[in-house]
Amino acid sequence: MRIGSGLDVHAFGPGDHLMLGGVRIAHSQGVVAHSDGDVVLHALCDALLGAAGLGDIGQHFPDSDPRWKGAASARFVTAVLALLQARRLAVVNADLTVIAEAPRVAPHRDAICREVARLLEVPLERVNLKATTTEGLGFLGRAAGIAAQAVVLLSEG
Ligand code: MG
Repeated sequence: MRIGSGLDVHAFGPGDHLMLGGVRIAHSQGVVAHSDGDVVLHALCDALLGAAGLGDIGQHFPDSDPRWKGAASARFVTAVLALLQARRLAVVNADLTVIAEAPRVAPHRDAICREVARLLEVPLERVNLKATTTEGLGFLGRAAGIAAQAVVLLSEG
C-alpha cells in the first residue's frame, strides 16, 4: 500500500463557472488558471503522483506548455492513471476536500463523486467528497479563491 496527498489552490477571476472534480458548476466567478483550473482534480493528480513517487503535476503538465492551455483536467487524471497502471499500481480509495466559502458543493457532490470514480476506474463507494469553509478567515474566507485537498491510497499489484 502507498499513500499520497495533494493540495491545490486557484484564485477566483472572471467567468461564469468552475470545474470541480470534472463537473461544470455555474458560479458568479471563474478561476485564474492555465488549464481549466479544476482544484479537485489537480489535488487528486498530486495525491496519485505522490503515492506513486512520481513527483507532482507541475512536472508532468507544466503550465508553460501550450498543450495544456485550457486543458480539461480530466485529461491529467487519465494520463496519471496510465502512469500508475504501467507500474501495477491501483487506486484503493480517494478522499477529497473542497475548501471554499462558495460555491456550495453539496448539490454537486454525487455528480462529482461519480465523475471522479469514473476517471479513476473505481466503484463509486471508493470516492468520498467533503466540503468545508475557513469560517471567513484568510484568503479562502474572503472568497479570493478555492482550494482542494486529496488523499489517496494505492495498492501494489
Ligand atoms: Mg491547479
